[in-house]
Amino acid sequence: MTATTTAPLSFTVSHPAAPVPDAQREAILAEPGFGKHFTDHMVSIDWTLEDGWTNAQVVPYGPIQMDPAASVLHYAQEIFEGLKAYRHEDGSIWTFRPEANGKRLQLSAKRLALPELSVEDFVQSLRELIAVDGDWVPSGEDMSLYIRPFMIANESFLGVRSAQKASYMVIASPAGPYFAGGVKPVSIWLSTEYSRAGRGGTGEAKCGGNYASSLLPQMEAAENGCSQVLFLDAVTQEYIDELGGMNVFFVKKDGNLLTPNLNGNILHGVTRASIIQLAKDRGLEVEERPISINEWKEGFTNGDIVEAFACGTAAVVTPINELKGADFSVGDPNAPAGELTLSLREELTDIQYGRRQDRHGWMTRL
Ligand code: PMP
Repeated sequence: MTATTTAPLSFTVSHPAAPVPDAQREAILAEPGFGKHFTDHMVSIDWTLEDGWTNAQVVPYGPIQMDPAASVLHYAQEIFEGLKAYRHEDGSIWTFRPEANGKRLQLSAKRLALPELSVEDFVQSLRELIAVDGDWVPSGEDMSLYIRPFMIANESFLGVRSAQKASYMVIASPAGPYFAGGVKPVSIWLSTEYSRAGRGGTGEAKCGGNYASSLLPQMEAAENGCSQVLFLDAVTQEYIDELGGMNVFFVKKDGNLLTPNLNGNILHGVTRASIIQLAKDRGLEVEERPISINEWKEGFTNGDIVEAFACGTAAVVTPINELKGADFSVGDPNAPAGELTLSLREELTDIQYGRRQDRHGWMTRL
């Protein structure tokens, strides 16, 4: 389904009767945690098959009314995005590669038979929210405002077909530093019992269902002292796809990088694409190809792979120093973070927080 509206949408704004008082907001921003507190407003845009996108609004944050027969509640037609707003030293507010998230939302929409919102309207929806809730962007070190655009099928109809009514919304939540007290390497759990995505499935879409199916293996990971799950391809169980919520990279002993290619099962990570660019800028080679789990296991043991890291918007770059499974473990949980891992992390966060030149034009002022 494509957007039936081509002209940019214009938004109306209504304010809450009682926004969160300044002192309360400041207290939240001092220690926001993640995903717990929400800003005063949200964006809401309606879609119908008949009229396309209409009714673009910024409204007070709050519960939404939904018919119990709304299609999303039964058939999980839902997609979402995740990106951040960063406050720079001069107080200005910026976001990172929002067009990439807008395009990915379109890709997800296509796969889930939801309507596509134009990238222009997507970026404008972020601007509209920040225009009224900019005070919610924290200024503390490594803090940000996490922005969560999402779309749901919202037709009251139990027939199994693509919905003829949908809603797009944007909410935002202040986020503290992912690693309080400095970057710490993590252990990763290899799931062999469960898969995340099968061939032809929804693996490369950012849809809620993918995350629902990852929760049980994620619990298994936590029980085994690991912070994330590594999923293999569902067909051969030989090749690495990605983690539950992050893409994965390896550093070879010659300093070059290795990462699974975009094979239809894994998310097109914006951080992944940015790391590839930054590595190439340094003259490093990046191989995007199928990587078997044995290549990682053996490489970690014989020294062919000297660093491993995960990447995504929330944690940016997370060093991995151990891989564990039901009957094995490789790597050393006490090993320090890799040098290249840390330096790529620093370069990317420096760009995002305006501490380093943005030579690729990745930052958009909101
Ligand atoms: N893979 C999965 C499954 C994810 O949920 C995420 C987080 N969006 C990523 C990779 C990383 O994507 P990005 O760098 O765009 O945040």
